[in-house]
Amino acid sequence: MDIFKELDEKVLEGSLIDLDTLNELKFITRNDFYKSFKSKKICIFSNCKNKSIKRSHTIPRSGSLKIISDDSHLLYPHLCETGDELSMRMERIGIGEASVFPGFCKEHEKIFAEFEQKKDIDSIEQAKLQAYRSICREIVINNLELEKIKKAIVKYKNERNRQYKLGMESKIGKKVEKVKIEYNDIPLNFANMSKVKITEKLEFLSKIHDKFLESIKNEENDENVFMNVIHTDMKIPIALSGLGYANIIDEENNHREIKSILNVIPFESSTVLIFAGDNVDKEILDNHFDYIIQHPILILNFIESFMMHGTDHWFIQPEVWNKMDEEKQKYILEYFFVTEKAFLQDVNFSIFDDIRKDYLVKLTLPEGLKESEENKFNFNLKNPQKSIMDSLNERYNYFYETNGI
Ligand SMILES: [Zn+2]
Repeated sequence: MDIFKELDEKVLEGSLIDLDTLNELKFITRNDFYKSFKSKKICIFSNCKNKSIKRSHTIPRSGSLKIISDDSHLLYPHLCETGDELSMRMERIGIGEASVFPGFCKEHEKIFAEFEQKKDIDSIEQAKLQAYRSICREIVINNLELEKIKKAIVKYKNERNRQYKLGMESKIGKKVEKVKIEYNDIPLNFANMSKVKITEKLEFLSKIHDKFLESIKNEENDENVFMNVIHTDMKIPIALSGLGYANIIDEENNHREIKSILNVIPFESSTVLIFAGDNVDKEILDNHFDYIIQHPILILNFIESFMMHGTDHWFIQPEVWNKMDEEKQKYILEYFFVTEKAFLQDVNFSIFDDIRKDYLVKLTLPEGLKESEENKFNFNLKNPQKSIMDSLNERYNYFYETNGI
């Protein structure tokens, strides 16, 4: 079978498909994803059979996104893929598009109408609805991601079979009926890793979705969910809604993964932070909550941490981002894909400099805290960071080592 050695080697190396074809496949898959993302789905509210509207906002548009926008636009971090390069970029988005997903039908959009119109969240019921809406967005987006990966795997395998078949035919000089390669090369392993991770995420989301829905329908069912709300007069030019993970070692020396849904919702003269999670993580999340409500600067730290270590689903006022020098912008964008820190840990540098400076001048801070906050301005942004590709490879190795493959 020596004549196939070259083809087999290419399969093993994952290089049977040339880069141009590979990029074309990625392009098609991405396009399918955006098309699907922009089309109506079945309403996510349980048992509803209606079609969703195309654009359900996760974060209120006129009461919140508008408040922190410039010219009705915001900036948001986005992972871009050009050729075989990955990079995080800040992109501009209109408030009509920011945080939207094909979620609820017209009827069920109305359950959020009260606080949308009031332009404030001032009851635990409303906060719970907002948390629920975030969970729903995570479910819709992750389902679409999962669908995208599954389709990409099929396309990749088909193309690999086709290339192998063509290679064989040219070597032996006659038609070959069918080729089916089962070998999992590196691109397929990467795709399978994402599939496993997203599937796990969706399992958690589905459980927490049901618990929140129960608790919305019947307040007595509160014991299964974790909820906490901070309503503060701090004004922070950010809107955020997403899911964060933290790996911790608990008091009994067990490794545990803590998950939390966080919302940072800006309003005209206030900011509302909504923490939501599963009751199994209540103790850890409550402890952290009790810690951060001691001082506004700790709340600011927590928001910055969730932006960098929690989720990339946030929107920042363009003016605030554009004011940062380029070195800092670059550092932030490179940082948050490669960092290994979690949302329970602070960021070592300052994002919202003006707010932090203002707090340091106007508020009294315990000595140790004051010093560590001031140090954030002196953080060396020239520190070299890992590349996105190195970070991805590390995650890959860790995943396949711990899964024993
Ligand atoms: Zn519905």
